[in-house]
Amino acid sequence: MAIDADGDAGFDLVCEHCGRRVVARWRARCDCGQPLWVDGDHTDADATLPDGPVADQWAFADLLPVEPPTDLGRAAGGTPLIRTPALDDGVGATVSVKYEGANPTGSFKDRGSAVAVAAATAAGADTVATVSHGNMARSVAAHAAAAGLDCTVFVPDDIPRERLGTIAAFDPDIVAVDGDYGALYERALALGPDRNVPVANSDVPLRVAGQKTTLLEVFAEATPDAVVLPVSSGGHASAAWKAVRDLRSLGALSEPPELHFVQTAACAPVAEAFARGDDTVSPVTAGETVAYSIANADPPSGDRALRAARTTGGAVRAVDDDAIERARDNLATRTGLSVETASATTLAAARRIAFDPGDEVVLVATGDGAVEAANRPPPATQSVDIDDVETVL
Ligand SMILES: *Cc1c(COP(=O)(O)O)cnc(C)c1O
Ligand SMILES: [Zn+2]
Repeated sequence: MAIDADGDAGFDLVCEHCGRRVVARWRARCDCGQPLWVDGDHTDADATLPDGPVADQWAFADLLPVEPPTDLGRAAGGTPLIRTPALDDGVGATVSVKYEGANPTGSFKDRGSAVAVAAATAAGADTVATVSHGNMARSVAAHAAAAGLDCTVFVPDDIPRERLGTIAAFDPDIVAVDGDYGALYERALALGPDRNVPVANSDVPLRVAGQKTTLLEVFAEATPDAVVLPVSSGGHASAAWKAVRDLRSLGALSEPPELHFVQTAACAPVAEAFARGDDTVSPVTAGETVAYSIANADPPSGDRALRAARTTGGAVRAVDDDAIERARDNLATRTGLSVETASATTLAAARRIAFDPGDEVVLVATGDGAVEAANRPPPATQSVDIDDVETVL
């Protein structure tokens, strides 16, 4: 489906919460205040779904609102689903890891960035923007660079310097903003419709549309009983649920998997709302955490994540920094996967979930751990003189 550069977006937006339909390019919020989704009522008998591993996310082009790009965006997705038998005993299930670190900039954010940037190009926009302090900023800046678009990245002014470097490599305009991150996020969203600048924030409809391919890919290869995913803004969680709903409406999935979401104990607004039995998420004051990529204290799609977990028989849990770091180190030493610390929350949480023996469980490792590992203090090494090399083994 192409986007008409002059007229409407070429796709409808729907509100999962109140059922309203909206046709407006770059709108992110329903009048009821909840996030909009790109229409996903896929009863289209023409949609063809792949069976088995795919080369990239565009294998699901029939379920996406834009044509496949021909630049970097084409390489988004197609990440491996890796069996990790060494984790089975600790989790009490048959465990696989969906390794999102294999995306072009090292996280699942590329899936949504590719769709948002392709839509921007199709609509004749010359700039994209985002509010982020890490992987999303890097991803949007890279995809914008590939598409020849300008890119503005709003970051919180207390962002660690080393994270700025990985964003700056793609030369976006970086604007450090002093003020509340949640308020900045919502204010930036208003720029989209006002200025014809797509703002590719965490839970905007086009990003969520792209990010649903994480689970579409999993289900093309396997039929897990449960999926475990870290949650910050709730954009990826919302996308996971959208994928399940799309597959169900296509008749391609009979039983939805349990969607289990994980937060860091230092910042767990969705897990706390789940534990209280609330329908809406209340903002919290975030503490310091090793899982800084999932420290959104005021998650814009938190309510949707809550509902996705409840509707599918899953849950939302919080895990503490010690358990997260242990899980990250175990993933590296037992499975050979270097994952970002935020992604290791999935293993830490899975170890606490009482799965049925024989359950198939997929942990979504949302990001690659190489940049973080390079920033940790160097390990002690063994030193020998070259003449003694033979004595080492
Ligand atoms: C962005 C991100 C998350 C959280 O995703 P949301 O869509 O904001 O909930 C988790 N892990 C990594 C590595 C991320 O970059
Ligand atoms: Zn609504």
